[in-house]
Amino acid sequence: MNRVRLLVLNAALGPLDYRVPDDLHVEPGSIVVAPLGPRQVLGIAWESERLPGAEVPDARLRPILDVLPVPPLPAPLRRLIEWTAEYYCAAMASVARMSLSSSAALRGGGTITEYRLTGVMPSRLTPQRDAAISALDGEQGTIRELADLAGVSEAVLRGLVNAGVMEPVVVDIDRAYPPADPNHAAPTLSDLQTGVADRFVEAVKARKFAPFLLDGVTGSGKTETYFEAVAEAIRMGRQVLVLLPEIALTENFLKRFESRFGVPPVVWHSSQKQSERRRAWRQVAEGGAQVVVGARSALFLPYANLGLIIVDEAHEVSFKQDDGVRYNARDVAVMRGRFEQIPVVLASATPALESLQMAEAGVYEKVDLPSRFGEASLPEIAVVDLREQVPPRGRWLAPPLVAGIEERLARGEQSLLFLNRRGYAPLTLCRNCGFRFQCPNCSAWLVEHRLSKRLACHHCGHEVPSPSQCPECGEADCLTACGPGVERIADEVAQIFPDARTAVVTSDTLSNPEKIAAFVDAAESGAIDVIVGTQLVTKGYHFPELTLVGVVDADLGLEGGDLRAAERSYQQIAQVAGRAGRASKPGEVLIQTRHPDAPVIAALAAGDRDAFYAAETDARRHAGAPPFGRWAAIIVSSEDEAEAREAAQNIGRAAPRLDDLAVFGPAPAPLSLLRGRYRYRLLINARRSAALQQTIREWLDPMEFAPGVRIGVDIDPYSFV
Ligand code: ADP
Ligand code: ZN
Repeated sequence: MNRVRLLVLNAALGPLDYRVPDDLHVEPGSIVVAPLGPRQVLGIAWESERLPGAEVPDARLRPILDVLPVPPLPAPLRRLIEWTAEYYCAAMASVARMSLSSSAALRGGGTITEYRLTGVMPSRLTPQRDAAISALDGEQGTIRELADLAGVSEAVLRGLVNAGVMEPVVVDIDRAYPPADPNHAAPTLSDLQTGVADRFVEAVKARKFAPFLLDGVTGSGKTETYFEAVAEAIRMGRQVLVLLPEIALTENFLKRFESRFGVPPVVWHSSQKQSERRRAWRQVAEGGAQVVVGARSALFLPYANLGLIIVDEAHEVSFKQDDGVRYNARDVAVMRGRFEQIPVVLASATPALESLQMAEAGVYEKVDLPSRFGEASLPEIAVVDLREQVPPRGRWLAPPLVAGIEERLARGEQSLLFLNRRGYAPLTLCRNCGFRFQCPNCSAWLVEHRLSKRLACHHCGHEVPSPSQCPECGEADCLTACGPGVERIADEVAQIFPDARTAVVTSDTLSNPEKIAAFVDAAESGAIDVIVGTQLVTKGYHFPELTLVGVVDADLGLEGGDLRAAERSYQQIAQVAGRAGRASKPGEVLIQTRHPDAPVIAALAAGDRDAFYAAETDARRHAGAPPFGRWAAIIVSSEDEAEAREAAQNIGRAAPRLDDLAVFGPAPAPLSLLRGRYRYRLLINARRSAALQQTIREWLDPMEFAPGVRIGVDIDPYSFV
């Protein structure tokens, strides 16, 4: 009899066996619908020897109901799912779910009806209709998607269809993307760049696993160089995945890609329209999507014929996913390269210590681009000691920085002020009674946002309108902002230079691709004099007139208990410094700090990257931290504080006693209350030799917890909030 073992997409269930009816064809990777009790479940046919489970006798097997009209998940992806689940102590079902991330795509191809504007204006223009028409300019989608997009009801749009303002278009779900032309506009590379590009092209042709660390200063042409490898993969008819750390960077990348290859790449991220995701997913699986650019979730897509992976800004912490399956896309990308037998390029100007170590150990091949392309030189970096250069009361920009901005304004050049804090002020309190605004769901202060006139929690999204009086004592006009956020710095610039055109750049102000594109256009055309931004502006942008970068508070990133705090500060400041002087005009960077002697700041000021990495390496080795030892966290949470504490204590008591592994805690997490859940954490520090994952599984698997308790395992944790 024809049997099949399924990986069922429900983390609570183990593997299940079914019978395959004669009229259905199933092979490993096939996505099928199967009966489960009175319900139906989605499952992936798996090699039974790789998915051990209890054998069910033939007679008791139920037949599967259907095989979905999509290609089977390829073997390398199945191996990746197994590896990810194993390494990150996650359920295979949860990992597999990330591969099947468009449920619409699984239903197959065919045609659907979408709608678009005709250009005809309605005879009766209500405010809602007016809003819909301006929101839907250039858009096409189903009524439901367009209603979401425009923020109006479906009825409004149906009215517009009846009035001839919108028209239906029948589209083929599986229509191909226009092909990229590998020779569209190839640049002339410098000798240095050519050497690197040739190495990548050779690796793409070799069709073998080859991990590279592309270590090149900002502006050295890393992108131009790896584009040559992308071109080669396209010529070979193979697919390419480019992972970017943030959606916000995609816009800029799309433009560059299009000017190099003639068409934009296929985009994949979470805020896309469902119909776009469906098309992208299906083209990825059928091999029609040549180059996919996306955030970390693009990593688990079922590429038919992957030939190259690029991880740009590979050091970025946003490649680490901190909920659901806690994985690091940078590391998983390398594993995918191994299973697919293809090259993987990790590109960065400030590689993670872990990546440098892998290169040193000979696991990754390191290729360098040590100087900027063309006439551009690296910027001059100077420190502003805030203990000597004191900003006026209630202000944050010290005299040298103000003078620097003034000079740029006079010369018609741009300045960028970097402060990694959204909003106006991180804390608001009442001058009369001392009341502080706190989030009801998190142990965190509410952050004032003046642009939107709201107080917001940056952890759970809780928001209230900014009050006019204190909710505690009732006093009016008594609320004071404490400390600066980017909005407040922009205010300060406006007070000092009333004629300067400023732009605040954060995830609040650049919340969609249109706003990002508008900002890039404005900055490139010289319509902005001073950009004030968070880490969102530290990477990717190339503004030729930008010649001054001011780091408003270099000490900010060094606070907090994150074990990579120093490295992250270094990377962030080096990245933002890299925005200055990218064209022919030289750049200058001013770093405001109270600790000019801290190793991070001293290394930045001296332009001595090696000194920083050497000091950081020593510190890590001493602490048994990665890459010399390993960390893991067990996170216990519950809506009930006592329940969470008790579960955490039980885990602590059950901790294994081993020579190569130490357990710390449980301790309340720094944000002990997050999104309404109380959290405790145990930290595990292990030698490299320890069987970390196996130990954790054997430790936690036999334990039982109250139903409201959630246990999460974080292997190689990053953020300790
Ligand atoms: P990185 O990714 O290392 O920061 P980029 O690839 O963004 O560097 O290159 C920096 C700037 O220099 C970009 O505007 C890029 O187009 C330009 N550039 C780099 N190499 C070349 C080249 N060989 N020919 C023309 N322009 C180049
Ligand atoms: Zn909150």
